Amino acid sequence: RSASVSQSSTTGETQSTGYDYDFLVIGAGSGGIASARRAAGYGAKVAVVEKGRLGGTCVNVGCVPKKVMWNAASIAETLHEMQHYGFTGVDPDNDSIAFDWGFIKENRDKYIRRLNKIYEVNMANSGVDNVFGSASFTKGSNEVLVTPDDGSEPRKYKAKNVLIATGGYPQFPEGEGIIEHSISSDGFFELEDLPNKAVVVGAGYIAVELAGVLQALGTDTSLVLRKEKALREFDDILVDTLDDEMQRQGITIYRNNTGVKKIELDEDGLKLVTLHNEEVIEGVDTVIMATGRSPLVEPLNLPDAGIEQRKGGYIKTDEYSSTSADGVFALGDVCGKVELTPMAIAAGRRLADRLFGGPEWKDAKVSYEFVPTVVFSHPPIGTIGLTERQAVEKYGKEKIKVYKSKFANLYYGPWQVGPEDKPKTAMKLICAGEEELVVGLHVIGMGADEMLQGFGVAMKMGATKADFDSTVAIHPTASEELVTMY
Ligand code: FAD
Ligand code: NDP
Repeated sequence: RSASVSQSSTTGETQSTGYDYDFLVIGAGSGGIASARRAAGYGAKVAVVEKGRLGGTCVNVGCVPKKVMWNAASIAETLHEMQHYGFTGVDPDNDSIAFDWGFIKENRDKYIRRLNKIYEVNMANSGVDNVFGSASFTKGSNEVLVTPDDGSEPRKYKAKNVLIATGGYPQFPEGEGIIEHSISSDGFFELEDLPNKAVVVGAGYIAVELAGVLQALGTDTSLVLRKEKALREFDDILVDTLDDEMQRQGITIYRNNTGVKKIELDEDGLKLVTLHNEEVIEGVDTVIMATGRSPLVEPLNLPDAGIEQRKGGYIKTDEYSSTSADGVFALGDVCGKVELTPMAIAAGRRLADRLFGGPEWKDAKVSYEFVPTVVFSHPPIGTIGLTERQAVEKYGKEKIKVYKSKFANLYYGPWQVGPEDKPKTAMKLICAGEEELVVGLHVIGMGADEMLQGFGVAMKMGATKADFDSTVAIHPTASEELVTMY
């Protein structure tokens, strides 16, 4: 890794402008890399400044390692279920299946290192320069100082356009012993062993995903919620079904306790977690705080560059990703609109199209409507568009029609257990107006993650309930329910 610049395009100032670059991107994460490569494809002279590993949050401490662990957890679930299909020889309830956390961690880390390398090669192939170090604005908005972390000399770069795509970082709530005795999702990916007893604090994507993974892999897992239920901004059908499923899987849920007050160590070095309502969880080896993330804006020096922020420190942008400073743009998690990798990628590409793609792209911007998203809980959740509550607020109760379904997937058909012991799939379609435009689609259950993308296309194209009904079902699948609801 070079201390300053690993250059793949021609060096020197850009033609006739006095700038080092046409486009200087701060942050080699999902949004930054996508934007940089698209811009270079148009012939712009581009560099990306990165202080950590290429790929950003998603590749290193987000989507990718999380999905690997979700896959591991799904395999564990299948192994526990195989008896229902006549497979014998191992007794999953008798600990006869050995799971080696160290093995999957090592291979997961190797996979990520391969991805880091692939990003490096792809950027070089696209003609994008890699500048290693931490970036901050100096005077005004066109000049960026890059300080390498190896002690070598900082260097200034002038760029005609600067993109801030610096992402976010995990927040820890206040409380005695919390910083010393808990980890964030970043720390989860560094764990060398499967925890024996874990407490996950939080109610968002990360909390339910990590709690689900740990419980399925065999950790005695508790989830600590400030309020009644997790994911409370999601549609009720998802919130309630997930709550039931998490309990069915054995996750202990502590509710309405306003969170953790303090964490201390007992004489065996295990953690005692005291909640605000004075409940105590004992004998815990791992506490994971998943209580939200904040924009990573230090040490950018935003005020000196005239870049305004909004509540929470997020960078203020308009619909074209422009900040309040001329020639400075921002997108992805640092803006906090929709914190998803494909959203950052799409915003990054549209920005590069607009800046460098010529007249046909002069108004290019990304749409934040009907963004499909999956929560990799157990079982997974897929959701697009408005919740029922939002639809009622937007259109009025009388203009909304809601279709619902709840059933056990055929996969659980042969199980000789009572209906209440079979995991559930739940679905909801929310339609608006006389033409029954589908404005909300929500699914929880086996396969929901892979079910959603095509429905996302349909909704983006303005599909109505009649379009859904006129689509021939694929049988026997769970997704057919979405085109056969009445
Ligand atoms: P990032 O990917 O965070 O990249 C920002 C980069 O900027 C980083 O590499 C950082 O080191 C660098 N940087 C910051 N400041 C500076 C500076 N001053 N100088 C130089 N470099 C700097 N999204 C999904 O769509 N699906 C998922 O399944 C999913 N799972 C997730 C799981 C977890 C545990 C987490 C935490 C997030 C997950 N996300 C998921 C969200 C997704 O990772 C983010 O939305 C996405 O990475 C945001 O991209 P970005 O480009 O805005 O920032
Ligand atoms: P979220 O903002 O989604 O959730 C955090 C939640 O934790 C809050 O909404 C709050 O819920 C609860 N909380 C806040 N403070 C406390 C506290 N002190 N004690 C207990 N609970 C608290 O943040 P995440 O960090 O989970 O995820 C950040 C973003 O990353 C997500 O919004 C998503 O966009 C993205 N992501 C996407 C994934 C995917 O696509 N599958 C996976 C992971 C992350 P309440 O108010 O109900 O208490």
